[in-house]
Amino acid sequence: MKEFSGFVTYGKEKVPFDVTYVDRKTMEIAVHPNGSVTIRAPKGTAQKTIRDRLAKRARWVIKQINFFRKFEPLTPARQFLGGETHLFLGRQYRLKIRSQKTNTVKLKGAYFLITTPDAKDSPKIKDLLDSWYKEHARLIFSRRLEECYKRAERLSIPYPEIRLRKMVRRWGSCSKSGDILLNTSLVKAPLSCIDYVIMHELCHLKIHTHTNSYFKFLSKLMPDWEKRKERLEKFMS
Ligand SMILES: [Zn+2]
Repeated sequence: MKEFSGFVTYGKEKVPFDVTYVDRKTMEIAVHPNGSVTIRAPKGTAQKTIRDRLAKRARWVIKQINFFRKFEPLTPARQFLGGETHLFLGRQYRLKIRSQKTNTVKLKGAYFLITTPDAKDSPKIKDLLDSWYKEHARLIFSRRLEECYKRAERLSIPYPEIRLRKMVRRWGSCSKSGDILLNTSLVKAPLSCIDYVIMHELCHLKIHTHTNSYFKFLSKLMPDWEKRKERLEKFMS
C-alpha cells in the first residue's frame, strides 16, 4: 500500500491531505475535526486524478473545515493568567505570576514562575512564555537531533540544520536545501514524540514522499514510530 501526502490550495487556504490506497471502487474524501483531509482511493489511482477530484470538491472541503473550526476552542483559549496550566515536554505546569520590576520565566516544581511589572498584563506574559518556549525548543530539538542523527547513520545524509516555525497543523517538514523545520509547540510534547517527528523528517531528507521504502527506513530506525505518532496526536488534540 503506497501512500502520499500533499497540499491542495483553495484560495488562501492551504489544506494538507493524506492518501491511502485501499481495495475499493470509489474514492472517499474525509475531513477531520483537526482540519486534516484524508482520501481513501482505489489502488492504482493516479495522483493527478486524486488532486483533480480534491479541486472539484473544494467548496465542500472548505465548508467542512469551517464547520469544525467553530468547535475549535474545545480547550479554552489561553488567557495567560495565574493558575492556568501550560505544557512542557508532556507535563502540565501551572502559571504563578508575580509583579516585579524584572521580566523572568522559570520552571520550578509544578510551576511556571513568571515575574513582570504587571502580573495582569496577559499579552506581555504570553510574549515572555513564547520566548521561553522558543529558547528551550531550540536547545532541546538540537540535542534530540544529535541523538536521532546517530541512529540514522545508515541514511548517510548530511547533518541538517533545525529551524523553528510556528505552524498550525503540522509538527515538522523539511526544506529542499536539507533543513528540518519544526513547530515550536512541539516542545510541549513528550520527548519520545519529539524524537518521532525528528526521525520522520530525517527520513524525508533521504526519501521525500511517503513511499514503501520511506516507511521501511523509518521502521528500521524507529520500530515503534506508530505508537509515538498516536501518542502525539492524542496528546495535542
Ligand atoms: Zn512525512
